Amino acid sequence: MIIVCPSCGAKNRVPEDKLNSQPNCGQCHETLIPLAPIELNEQNFSNMVTHSDLPILIDLWAEWCGPCKMMAPHFAEVAKHNPNVVFAKIDTEANPRLSSAFNVRSIPTLVLMNKTTEVARISGALRANQLQEWLDQQFNAHR
Ligand SMILES: [Zn+2]
Repeated sequence: MIIVCPSCGAKNRVPEDKLNSQPNCGQCHETLIPLAPIELNEQNFSNMVTHSDLPILIDLWAEWCGPCKMMAPHFAEVAKHNPNVVFAKIDTEANPRLSSAFNVRSIPTLVLMNKTTEVARISGALRANQLQEWLDQQFNAHR
């Protein structure tokens, strides 16, 4: 499958059974699946989302949003345990065009993407166990 490097944007072909063994980028040698949220912005969004064969879970947040900050460590925690999902954050203030493309009404909002298709979304702060549960439900429902 194709994994887009979050550091340099290079497309890497990775066998599915290597996803759990921390593959590195062939170009910049950074880890391809950092097991931590990556930053998406108006510059790298389309490359990452269009080419990644892994589903992407996006946390739309803002600096002034208390519940967003409360959820951040939970989001990072769940990222550690899900190498088959790219965890990404979009700062809605810094990226107004992405924010309006997603038609964000309240934050935090989580959007699960498969390529350029929105698979599911949920608004409001979630704890790690609730987030993992919601994620599992989406994969069961769409498998
Ligand atoms: Zn790279």
